[in-house]
Amino acid sequence: MNTVLPLLKVERLRMETDGEGVTTLVAAMGCPLSCKYCINAPLLVMTDLVQNVTPEQLLGMVRIDDLYFQATGGGVVFGGGESLLHAEFIREFAKIMPKEWKLTVETSLNVPEDNLRTIMPYVDYYIADIKETDPERYRAYTGMDGERAWNNLKLLADSGLAGKIRVRIPRIPGFNTVEDVKKSAERVSAIGKFDKIELFSYIIR
Ligand code: SF4
Repeated sequence: MNTVLPLLKVERLRMETDGEGVTTLVAAMGCPLSCKYCINAPLLVMTDLVQNVTPEQLLGMVRIDDLYFQATGGGVVFGGGESLLHAEFIREFAKIMPKEWKLTVETSLNVPEDNLRTIMPYVDYYIADIKETDPERYRAYTGMDGERAWNNLKLLADSGLAGKIRVRIPRIPGFNTVEDVKKSAERVSAIGKFDKIELFSYIIR
């Protein structure tokens, strides 16, 4: 099966943004959520920017930084949009990329469980943007039910993968408070020993 990725952009030579080492961000089209303060929203509807690439074509584009990846413990980060909408592509790319590279996914985890299971054997690190753990606030902010995201986070923790996951929980002006963010962090801590729980605040301009 040949799967393609609707590619929005490739950003090279990122440092200290996605964890260890030098990384290349591969951002793809599409997201199931409608977050009120999505910085990518204009990009996600501009379909004329999209170029469909095969795993082999993407490998050809990113391997220019092979030496940096190998020397620093970095690699490729799939983002978006929602990276896990493209789970089959990520799996196929993982099979052909050099074994020394690290593979990271940035995700809200609000995708079907099957998508997550497809990439679990191949992913080295996760950046999980879970946003909120309160169902009503999650829905108000994203326009979607958050149960699937929470269940997927639990699935990862129950599979012994919490140590590979950086969980991001934002303070979102108008939607949650510092106390709400702390409560979310407590709920997340209760289900697994995650690599890091990152609390931060959106700056709304
Ligand atoms: S999950 Fe990310 S890309 Fe999707 S709508 Fe929210 S902020 Fe935008």
